[in-house]
Amino acid sequence: MPEKKALRLTCPVCETRLKVAENIEQFACLNCGSELKVVKAEGLASLVPTQASADQMTDSQQQLIEVNSALKNADDIYGVGCAITTMGITLVACILLAVAIVIQSQVLFWAAIAIALVLLAFVLFIFLTASSRGTDPLLRQRDRLQAQVEAEEPLPEDEAGPEIARADPNPPRQPGETGS
Ligand SMILES: [Zn+2]
Repeated sequence: MPEKKALRLTCPVCETRLKVAENIEQFACLNCGSELKVVKAEGLASLVPTQASADQMTDSQQQLIEVNSALKNADDIYGVGCAITTMGITLVACILLAVAIVIQSQVLFWAAIAIALVLLAFVLFIFLTASSRGTDPLLRQRDRLQAQVEAEEPLPEDEAGPEIARADPNPPRQPGETGS
């Protein structure tokens, strides 16, 4: 019996991580209730709101979803680039270390370690600054849209239930009771 595969996907509306069985094509988000469709492109699955749930959204909500997915893509690209570069540097450093051991050169050994560390720190710095430069406008746009969406949502009405009228009178003090 083949094992059932579950996809780990993120709701584009509320950003909740969802586990979705592979054969499911359409479902409602557990958290926000949006109707979502599983879209598979180039072997990667992602979630998009169905036409019906998109119709119910305001313009800023839809824009917010687009900005969020653009942010996610940007993060993925930087993450992969960073991982590949780091692996490359580590690989070269390992080769240099092996060569240093073979030719018994202490200078090359320490130089390889020092260069690898400097390069790794450099890559980290480049990716951190490049990543924030690329996503900063998107982050600002997202904050603006999020505020807009919140402003559009009607405030939950404070419905006073019957429980509100709880009888909680102060218990009368015992006569003669003092502090100590
Ligand atoms: Zn959701």
